[in-house]
Amino acid sequence: MSDFDPSAHLSERLRCMEESAILRMSRLTRELRARGRDIVSLTLGEPDFDTPEVIRKAACAALEAGYTHYPPLPGFPEVRAAIAEKLREENGLDYGAQGVLVTTGAKQALANAVLALVDPGDEVILPAPYWVSYEILVKLAGGVPVVVEAYAEHGFGLNVERIARAVTERTKLVMINTPCNPSGAVFTREMLEGLADIVRAHPRMMVLSDEIYEYILFENARHVSIGALPGMLARTVTVNGFSKSHAMTGWRLGYAAADPAVISAMAKMQGAITSGVNAFSQRAAITALAKARPEADRMAADYARRRTLMAELLAGMPGMRLHLPAGTFYMLPDFSDLLARLPQGMPRDDVALAEWLLVEHGVSTVPGSAFGAPDTLRLSFSVSDADIREGVARLRAGMEALAARSG
Ligand code: PLP
Repeated sequence: MSDFDPSAHLSERLRCMEESAILRMSRLTRELRARGRDIVSLTLGEPDFDTPEVIRKAACAALEAGYTHYPPLPGFPEVRAAIAEKLREENGLDYGAQGVLVTTGAKQALANAVLALVDPGDEVILPAPYWVSYEILVKLAGGVPVVVEAYAEHGFGLNVERIARAVTERTKLVMINTPCNPSGAVFTREMLEGLADIVRAHPRMMVLSDEIYEYILFENARHVSIGALPGMLARTVTVNGFSKSHAMTGWRLGYAAADPAVISAMAKMQGAITSGVNAFSQRAAITALAKARPEADRMAADYARRRTLMAELLAGMPGMRLHLPAGTFYMLPDFSDLLARLPQGMPRDDVALAEWLLVEHGVSTVPGSAFGAPDTLRLSFSVSDADIREGVARLRAGMEALAARSG
């Protein structure tokens, strides 16, 4: 063996990517399963459906037709045009095809945008709860994440007054996600108008709006794109993709839409790292947009059914407060009152609670502090009915045991 230690040569940049509570929970779950423990997981962050057949067939046809070469960096013109048309028709966003960039998942769209817009020292407002990757991306760019909490009792909406107070002259960006992972909140037009007022009044502030759960809405919830509000188009980078809406997580297909100058900068970033997106995935996007909306709606209807099932099973659970999600396939119950009353040696925060539930009761959940929402747990209902029933039963057994120990 050489005495050279490669691990001592890793970049400083990696420090912002230390093991998250989420990865730790996945590791623990794997370890327990390897030892033969039966664990029910309510952690899944992706649709449990297969990609609709019509889309799969389109990708096969594209392969047969020879779409196996390097694609154009920003995306095939027809794909950009189809996305621009979708955004115009469904979201009231008129960016045009030149204002669209096809990306390797919505994640790359977010990364391109943050790296293209944020300089070291720039502040980026993250209304919490936020998706974990946002904070990492901001730190990777050398930016300063400024976390602004929403209130659980208001269903984790956008807390516009707090955001207004967090703005400084160094603020560059605010990153929003509606419908929101992990809370399931859908930001109302009124909330978004409040945020737009703040953004328009600032000389250089922009919005990065992640709308990837757009189609998964419940009851009367309506999705509003902040970029469609007056004066907001040029100040907004809209991010979306096919992973959640069309059950296409493995295809790595997403997009960003913005002012063409911003899109060119983002394309430059993408060109330096990955180039254009997988050619046959891209071709299938045309079919997904033109033909697969009924399938997307059927999947959304099934999440609605499972949301009702989970909500019924959770009803009356001791030590828990729950605001039902208006979108996505997650719930974010709050356990703060119970955790504050538990004695030493018992779980006193969400990370300890998630670990305790996993080890003692065999149910895996995601601690909310990973999303800037302490004392909550994220429960996914993108799992089978059987897992919803058994997972919630285990959660209930755990919460009843804890409630009996609380002061
Ligand atoms: N944005 C949010 C809020 C997500 O939850 C996810 C995936 O979990 C993504 C973006 C990334 O999606 P994609 O698979 O398109 O990269």
